[in-house]
Amino acid sequence: MITKSAMTLLIFLLPILFVSQQEPRNPVSSGTLKQIIPGHYVYSMNNAGRVFNSGVIVTSEGVLVFDALDSEAIARAERESISSIIKQPVRYLVSSSFHDPYSKGNIAYADVFKIGHENYRAGLLDQMQRGGASAEEQRARQPNQTFRDRVTLHFGGKEIQILHFGRAHTRGDSIVFVPQDRIAYLSEVFFSGEFPNMAQGYGVSWLKVLDAVEALGADIFVAGHGPIPEDPRATRAELHRLRQILTDARDGIQNEIARGATEDQAVAAVKLQQYEKLPTYAAQREVSVRRMYKELTGNLP
Ligand SMILES: [Zn+2]
Repeated sequence: MITKSAMTLLIFLLPILFVSQQEPRNPVSSGTLKQIIPGHYVYSMNNAGRVFNSGVIVTSEGVLVFDALDSEAIARAERESISSIIKQPVRYLVSSSFHDPYSKGNIAYADVFKIGHENYRAGLLDQMQRGGASAEEQRARQPNQTFRDRVTLHFGGKEIQILHFGRAHTRGDSIVFVPQDRIAYLSEVFFSGEFPNMAQGYGVSWLKVLDAVEALGADIFVAGHGPIPEDPRATRAELHRLRQILTDARDGIQNEIARGATEDQAVAAVKLQQYEKLPTYAAQREVSVRRMYKELTGNLP
């Protein structure tokens, strides 16, 4: 016998199942907003099995959003979730990676004060100009304020630190840290449960950035990529795993360089097979080894 609650669940699920079968290839246009700890939320979207996160920090004077995600539609859906669940206006948008999956949505924040690292701004402008973005899009997406090392907001009873610890996933990554809540948002500096993407990254410097992140004294580390665990303190173990991947890659390449290996020989030797089951390993392992080989031999400008 089907209970009343099971029936209700079915009634709700059927249209979802129907839609997902009908439109499997449509671009993702919305995600879900979930509280991590009081005053801190993550808006997550799942695109072809990969999870992309945007941070949402709530204060008594409004909201700070960290990373606008992949499109105007997703960003508008996130803002609608914020206004219906949190019921506070968005005051700031802080952006870390200039890559489109995290900055295309800036278009939906034309009315919001935007902050990013100076290299983020340069990377974003370069990317938009090369991509032929309209003048209007360029204006809407670029930051109002840039910084070099850090900028601190005192806003609605919270101290919000926006920090740049050096090159990592890009040359302009930002980390947002709220000391009183011991939570750090890492954007694409933190690939959780995935092999990191280093196409424009600096793996050796990335390790130093992770040292600085570790020294912040946070308990919770919000990843840009990957699901947030039920117990948010479990994020620390995943962050250590990322550090281990980068450490193993660096040490392996360093050994090859010491033996006189060329870049191609290092790529052939440093397989990092212990990580081959991770999503994106196949696509990213060689790219990472090449970038880190160049970085270690002083050939990465
Ligand atoms: Zn990226």
